[in-house]
Amino acid sequence: MLRTHTCGELRAANDGERVTLCGWVQNRRDHGGLLFLDLRDRYGVTQVVTEPEFPEAGAAADRVRLEWVVRGTGVVRTRPDANRNKDRSTGQIEVVLEEFEVLSASAPLPVAVTGEERSSEELGLRYRYLEMRRPEVRNALETRARMNQIIREHMIAQAFVEVETPILLRSTPEGARDYLVPSRVHPGSFYALPQSPQILKQILMVGGMDRYWQIARCFRDEDLRADRQPEFTQLDIEMSFVEQDDVLEVVESLVVRLVREIAGVEIPSSVRRMPYAEAVARYGTDKPDLRFGLPVVDVTEILQDCAFGVFSGAAKAGGRIRAIALGPEHPLSRKKLDALPAAVADRGARGVAWVRIKAEGWSGAAAKHLTDAEQSGLTEALGLQEGGIALFLAGPSEVVVPASGDLRVHLGKLFELRDPARYELLWVVDFPLFAWNEDEQRLDAAHHPFTAPLPEDVPLLDSAPKSVRALAYDLVLNGEEVAGGSIRIHQHDVQSRVFELLGIGADEAQQRFGFFLEALRYGAPPHGGCASGLDRLAASLLGLEQIRDVIAFPKTTSAADLMSGAPSTVDPAQLVELSLQLDVASPAETGNEPGDGIRSA
Ligand code: ASP
Repeated sequence: MLRTHTCGELRAANDGERVTLCGWVQNRRDHGGLLFLDLRDRYGVTQVVTEPEFPEAGAAADRVRLEWVVRGTGVVRTRPDANRNKDRSTGQIEVVLEEFEVLSASAPLPVAVTGEERSSEELGLRYRYLEMRRPEVRNALETRARMNQIIREHMIAQAFVEVETPILLRSTPEGARDYLVPSRVHPGSFYALPQSPQILKQILMVGGMDRYWQIARCFRDEDLRADRQPEFTQLDIEMSFVEQDDVLEVVESLVVRLVREIAGVEIPSSVRRMPYAEAVARYGTDKPDLRFGLPVVDVTEILQDCAFGVFSGAAKAGGRIRAIALGPEHPLSRKKLDALPAAVADRGARGVAWVRIKAEGWSGAAAKHLTDAEQSGLTEALGLQEGGIALFLAGPSEVVVPASGDLRVHLGKLFELRDPARYELLWVVDFPLFAWNEDEQRLDAAHHPFTAPLPEDVPLLDSAPKSVRALAYDLVLNGEEVAGGSIRIHQHDVQSRVFELLGIGADEAQQRFGFFLEALRYGAPPHGGCASGLDRLAASLLGLEQIRDVIAFPKTTSAADLMSGAPSTVDPAQLVELSLQLDVASPAETGNEPGDGIRSA
């Protein structure tokens, strides 16, 4: 090794030892003749100092600038009490330089590697290796590595077998677009990068592997929303001869352990379950943040004949009226009330009506229209208290249900009810099997097409498919989905029927998943599994809002890698080899040089 110790290692106990350190110069202070340098590496920061006794080392050290990489040898000296740095693990000592050399100079840095202020997102991504020198980014990546280690221990201890599935594959549907890779050897044919290893892990069960796990990279070409990455990492699990609860137990015991070991918070080992219908009814979402209350209450029946036209009009049109009650401990000024509609505008909600509950009479635009019976109905249903406020959303169900969820989250933020030190886990179960695709007037798989219906709902597949519930489940942590899965269909005939309902005809099913349907014919065990998005989970455990920092080399929301400049154009010769012709303007015409994906990002 070029060093004897790391920059995080030396203590007063090392006093008098001759050591060699390597690191980046994080700080340089010249105190007239005495030069202090802070050397940083992954492990910490150590102060080194020049003394007139060693003029050569002093002269060499004098040349260095910030972020140069250096190597210094000298003797550890305990600092006088007054000069100790209590915020630093090595703050009791310094190293008096006897020899010093520059290993590598650095150009002035384009991004800040120290200090509170981060550089812009664009610069941070372009110079990701410099951001990585920041302790919070390094810490996130190290935490990620610890998570992987805990996961590995946990899975091995439960007899799961780690299997690597291919990246060059046929399409696996998870509801997104595929990333395609052209084949050179088979002109005109393409591989699809896996949206998940779903089909393969099910085939592993047919192969008798019984318990599979993998930390799998998945690729989904979606119109990217903020905080989504085109490639992401999942802990992928599949188990044979299991029922829903068996899968939930494996996953929840792992997540509870990760919360304990990574976030340092002990939470109950058995996670509560809530049916999808209840989550949506009470919280307006299938991923409720249970760190705070503020449940949503449907008050349509109480207000359907109300003289306030906004309410009765919505009810008559078949819509819903949903309300959230705030007690006197959560006051809202007129200004804050006026800002509420903006919090639900994205969902198409037209406004938020409110009434203030006062002993001398209720106030607010709707108040004077409410009969005594309606007032007492609301008081009872919402638990209204004097000094409190009731907030109302009225309109079509598909608008007000999610809007009520957004309003609740908005209030949770506004009143700072989302305690960052709390970890509230919840399994949402009994999801619908299908989702109605309004644009194409057909059913889509709500999870993916291999999910099994609830046994008691199977007869409804023919009569009322939209009300069929699935053996599907999502694990929600503080309002974020951190895992999801299902018990699978293992009977060939049920699978074919579900394909039919999804509008996937026999020919198409054969063409897309023939190999898989065939596997189901050869003795498929009952099986089910789950996958957990590790980027999101790591961010939640670290209390980070953005998943960007837990990924070593993240992409932008438009799927560009600002560091390498991917995606980029390719050499025309490569296209010829791949038998591909482009139907887009040439780079010369668009002014897009290879790597310019990044400039439009
Ligand atoms: N393959 C699913 C997903 O990626 C998870 C599962 O059903 O196990 O979301």
